[in-house]
Amino acid sequence: MIVAFLNQKGGVGKTTLALHLAGEWAGKGKRVTLIDADPQGSALDWSQQRSRGGHPRLFGVVGLARDTLHREAPELARDVDHVVIDGPPRVAGLMRSALLAADLVLIPVQPSPLDGWASAEMLTLLSEARIYRPELRARFVLNRCGARTVIARETAETLADHDPPVLRNTIGQRVIYADAAQSGRLAFEIDDDGPAAREITALITEIERIAP
Ligand code: ADP
Ligand code: MG
Repeated sequence: MIVAFLNQKGGVGKTTLALHLAGEWAGKGKRVTLIDADPQGSALDWSQQRSRGGHPRLFGVVGLARDTLHREAPELARDVDHVVIDGPPRVAGLMRSALLAADLVLIPVQPSPLDGWASAEMLTLLSEARIYRPELRARFVLNRCGARTVIARETAETLADHDPPVLRNTIGQRVIYADAAQSGRLAFEIDDDGPAAREITALITEIERIAP
Protein backbone atom coordinates (compact mmCIF):
# COMPACT_ATOMS: atom_id res chain seq x y z
CA MET A 1 0.00 0.00 0.00
CA ILE A 2 1.15 3.57 -0.71
CA VAL A 3 -0.01 6.04 1.93
CA ALA A 4 0.63 9.76 1.47
CA PHE A 5 0.44 12.38 4.21
CA LEU A 6 -0.58 15.57 2.45
CA ASN A 7 -1.66 19.05 3.43
CA GLN A 8 -0.31 22.22 1.93
CA LYS A 9 -0.20 23.71 5.39
CA GLY A 10 3.10 23.28 7.18
CA GLY A 11 3.35 22.21 10.80
CA VAL A 12 0.20 20.06 10.79
CA GLY A 13 2.08 16.80 11.48
CA LYS A 14 2.74 15.25 8.07
CA THR A 15 6.33 14.32 8.94
CA THR A 16 5.54 13.24 12.51
CA LEU A 17 2.71 10.95 11.44
CA ALA A 18 4.53 9.60 8.37
CA LEU A 19 7.54 8.59 10.51
CA HIS A 20 5.35 6.98 13.17
CA LEU A 21 3.24 5.07 10.67
CA ALA A 22 6.37 3.79 8.91
CA GLY A 23 7.97 2.91 12.26
CA GLU A 24 4.91 1.09 13.53
CA TRP A 25 4.72 -1.05 10.38
CA ALA A 26 8.47 -1.72 10.51
CA GLY A 27 8.15 -2.71 14.16
CA LYS A 28 5.52 -5.24 13.12
CA GLY A 29 8.00 -6.80 10.69
CA LYS A 30 6.76 -5.10 7.50
CA ARG A 31 9.25 -3.86 4.95
CA VAL A 32 8.73 -0.12 4.64
CA THR A 33 10.18 2.73 2.59
CA LEU A 34 9.46 6.31 3.53
CA ILE A 35 9.62 8.82 0.68
CA ASP A 36 10.57 12.30 1.81
CA ALA A 37 8.78 14.42 -0.82
CA ASP A 38 9.40 17.66 1.06
CA PRO A 39 12.27 19.71 -0.39
CA GLN A 40 13.10 20.70 3.20
CA GLY A 41 14.00 17.07 3.91
CA SER A 42 12.88 16.80 7.54
CA ALA A 43 12.37 13.03 7.35
CA LEU A 44 15.86 12.66 5.88
CA ASP A 45 17.20 14.82 8.72
CA TRP A 46 15.43 12.56 11.22
CA SER A 47 16.96 9.51 9.61
CA GLN A 48 20.47 11.02 9.75
CA GLN A 49 19.95 12.03 13.34
CA ARG A 50 18.87 8.46 14.02
CA SER A 51 22.00 6.87 12.61
CA ARG A 52 24.23 9.43 14.37
CA GLY A 53 22.50 8.47 17.62
CA GLY A 54 23.30 4.81 16.94
CA HIS A 55 19.65 3.74 16.86
CA PRO A 56 18.92 0.67 14.74
CA ARG A 57 17.51 1.16 11.24
CA LEU A 58 13.77 0.60 11.09
CA PHE A 59 12.99 1.58 7.50
CA GLY A 60 14.68 3.24 4.56
CA VAL A 61 14.17 6.95 3.88
CA VAL A 62 14.48 8.13 0.28
CA GLY A 63 14.47 11.78 -0.79
CA LEU A 64 12.20 12.18 -3.84
CA ALA A 65 11.00 15.75 -3.89
CA ARG A 66 10.21 15.79 -7.59
CA ASP A 67 7.09 15.49 -9.66
CA THR A 68 8.03 12.12 -11.17
CA LEU A 69 6.98 10.70 -7.80
CA HIS A 70 3.91 9.02 -9.30
CA ARG A 71 6.20 6.90 -11.48
CA GLU A 72 8.93 6.27 -8.92
CA ALA A 73 6.80 5.47 -5.87
CA PRO A 74 5.11 2.41 -7.44
CA GLU A 75 8.56 1.11 -8.44
CA LEU A 76 9.80 1.45 -4.86
CA ALA A 77 6.57 -0.16 -3.65
CA ARG A 78 7.38 -3.36 -5.55
CA ASP A 79 10.24 -4.19 -3.16
CA VAL A 80 8.45 -3.50 0.13
CA ASP A 81 5.13 -4.06 1.89
CA HIS A 82 4.33 -0.37 2.36
CA VAL A 83 5.48 3.00 1.06
CA VAL A 84 4.75 6.07 3.18
CA ILE A 85 5.03 9.48 1.51
CA ASP A 86 5.83 12.49 3.68
CA GLY A 87 4.30 15.23 1.55
CA PRO A 88 5.50 18.69 0.59
CA PRO A 89 4.04 22.00 1.67
CA ARG A 90 2.67 24.34 -1.01
CA VAL A 91 4.27 22.78 -4.11
CA ALA A 92 1.28 21.96 -6.35
CA GLY A 93 3.24 19.88 -8.89
CA LEU A 94 4.64 17.63 -6.17
CA MET A 95 1.26 17.41 -4.52
CA ARG A 96 -0.36 16.28 -7.80
CA SER A 97 2.31 13.68 -8.28
CA ALA A 98 1.88 12.34 -4.73
CA LEU A 99 -1.91 12.17 -5.25
CA LEU A 100 -1.39 10.08 -8.38
CA ALA A 101 0.94 7.71 -6.54
CA ALA A 102 -1.13 7.07 -3.42
CA ASP A 103 -3.71 4.43 -2.58
CA LEU A 104 -4.67 6.33 0.56
CA VAL A 105 -4.22 10.04 1.30
CA LEU A 106 -4.20 11.12 4.93
CA ILE A 107 -4.64 14.83 5.61
CA PRO A 108 -3.42 15.82 9.08
CA VAL A 109 -5.34 18.75 10.55
CA GLN A 110 -5.58 20.41 13.91
CA PRO A 111 -8.93 19.96 15.62
CA SER A 112 -9.70 23.66 16.00
CA PRO A 113 -12.60 24.70 13.77
CA LEU A 114 -10.74 27.98 13.23
CA ASP A 115 -7.81 26.10 11.75
CA GLY A 116 -9.64 25.40 8.49
CA TRP A 117 -9.63 21.75 7.55
CA ALA A 118 -7.52 21.92 4.44
CA SER A 119 -6.84 24.53 1.84
CA ALA A 120 -9.38 24.76 -0.94
CA GLU A 121 -6.48 24.17 -3.31
CA MET A 122 -5.63 20.86 -1.65
CA LEU A 123 -9.24 19.67 -1.98
CA THR A 124 -9.35 20.79 -5.62
CA LEU A 125 -6.16 18.84 -6.33
CA LEU A 126 -7.74 15.83 -4.63
CA SER A 127 -10.86 15.96 -6.81
CA GLU A 128 -8.70 16.39 -9.92
CA ALA A 129 -6.67 13.32 -8.97
CA ARG A 130 -9.88 11.33 -8.54
CA ILE A 131 -10.68 11.83 -12.23
CA TYR A 132 -7.69 9.58 -12.98
CA ARG A 133 -7.83 7.57 -9.75
CA PRO A 134 -11.51 7.09 -8.82
CA GLU A 135 -10.46 4.45 -6.26
CA LEU A 136 -8.21 6.92 -4.39
CA ARG A 137 -9.20 7.05 -0.72
CA ALA A 138 -8.70 10.09 1.50
CA ARG A 139 -9.23 10.80 5.20
CA PHE A 140 -8.61 13.66 7.58
CA VAL A 141 -6.54 12.79 10.68
CA LEU A 142 -7.00 14.99 13.74
CA ASN A 143 -3.54 15.70 15.15
CA ARG A 144 -2.42 17.63 18.24
CA CYS A 145 -5.70 17.11 20.05
CA GLY A 146 -5.62 18.77 23.45
CA ALA A 147 -6.99 17.63 26.78
CA ARG A 148 -10.50 18.28 25.49
CA THR A 149 -10.22 15.34 23.14
CA VAL A 150 -13.92 14.62 23.59
CA ILE A 151 -14.55 17.72 21.52
CA ALA A 152 -12.18 16.45 18.88
CA ARG A 153 -14.01 13.15 18.86
CA GLU A 154 -17.35 14.88 18.46
CA THR A 155 -15.91 16.89 15.63
CA ALA A 156 -14.71 13.65 14.08
CA GLU A 157 -18.17 12.15 14.29
CA THR A 158 -19.86 15.23 12.90
CA LEU A 159 -17.48 15.17 9.99
CA ALA A 160 -17.58 11.43 9.44
CA ASP A 161 -19.88 11.78 6.46
CA HIS A 162 -17.87 14.61 4.99
CA ASP A 163 -15.72 14.03 1.99
CA PRO A 164 -13.02 13.23 2.87
CA PRO A 165 -14.26 11.64 6.12
CA VAL A 166 -12.35 11.96 9.39
CA LEU A 167 -10.59 9.01 11.03
CA ARG A 168 -12.18 8.05 14.33
CA ASN A 169 -8.78 7.64 16.04
CA THR A 170 -7.07 10.92 16.86
CA ILE A 171 -3.53 11.88 17.88
CA GLY A 172 -2.90 13.92 21.00
CA GLN A 173 -0.73 16.96 21.56
CA ARG A 174 2.24 15.28 23.28
CA VAL A 175 5.76 16.40 24.08
CA ILE A 176 6.99 12.88 23.30
CA TYR A 177 6.40 13.47 19.55
CA ALA A 178 8.64 16.53 19.58
CA ASP A 179 11.26 14.69 21.69
CA ALA A 180 11.18 11.77 19.28
CA ALA A 181 11.62 14.02 16.24
CA GLN A 182 14.59 15.79 17.76
CA SER A 183 16.44 12.66 18.81
CA GLY A 184 15.88 10.56 15.69
CA ARG A 185 13.57 8.17 17.50
CA LEU A 186 9.90 7.29 17.59
CA ALA A 187 7.49 7.67 20.48
CA PHE A 188 7.26 3.91 21.11
CA GLU A 189 11.05 3.74 21.52
CA ILE A 190 10.88 6.30 24.32
CA ASP A 191 7.80 4.83 26.03
CA ASP A 192 6.67 1.56 24.52
CA ASP A 193 3.30 1.38 26.23
CA GLY A 194 2.55 5.08 26.67
CA PRO A 195 -0.47 6.95 25.30
CA ALA A 196 1.39 7.97 22.13
CA ALA A 197 2.45 4.41 21.30
CA ARG A 198 -1.12 3.23 21.90
CA GLU A 199 -2.82 5.89 19.80
CA ILE A 200 -0.45 5.20 16.89
CA THR A 201 -1.27 1.48 17.09
CA ALA A 202 -4.99 2.30 17.10
CA LEU A 203 -4.59 4.64 14.12
CA ILE A 204 -2.78 1.95 12.13
CA THR A 205 -5.49 -0.60 12.86
CA GLU A 206 -8.08 1.82 11.47
CA ILE A 207 -5.94 2.60 8.41
CA GLU A 208 -5.46 -1.10 7.67
CA ARG A 209 -9.23 -1.56 7.76
CA ILE A 210 -9.70 1.20 5.16
CA ALA A 211 -7.03 0.05 2.75
CA PRO A 212 -6.10 -3.58 3.47
P1 ADP B 1 4.61 19.07 8.88
O1 ADP B 1 5.43 17.94 8.37
O2 ADP B 1 3.17 18.99 8.46
O3 ADP B 1 5.19 20.42 8.59
P2 ADP B 1 5.57 18.24 11.49
O4 ADP B 1 5.25 16.82 11.63
O5 ADP B 1 6.97 18.60 11.13
O6 ADP B 1 4.54 18.95 10.49
O7 ADP B 1 5.14 18.95 12.84
C1 ADP B 1 5.44 20.32 13.08
C2 ADP B 1 5.94 20.49 14.52
O8 ADP B 1 4.92 20.09 15.41
C3 ADP B 1 7.14 19.60 14.83
O9 ADP B 1 7.98 20.31 15.68
C4 ADP B 1 6.54 18.40 15.56
O10 ADP B 1 7.44 17.84 16.50
C5 ADP B 1 5.34 19.03 16.25
N1 ADP B 1 4.22 18.08 16.38
C6 ADP B 1 3.56 17.45 15.37
N2 ADP B 1 2.58 16.66 15.85
C7 ADP B 1 2.62 16.78 17.20
C8 ADP B 1 1.86 16.22 18.30
N3 ADP B 1 0.84 15.38 18.08
N4 ADP B 1 2.20 16.59 19.55
C9 ADP B 1 3.22 17.46 19.77
N5 ADP B 1 3.97 18.01 18.81
C10 ADP B 1 3.67 17.70 17.54
MG1 MG C 1 7.13 17.95 7.16
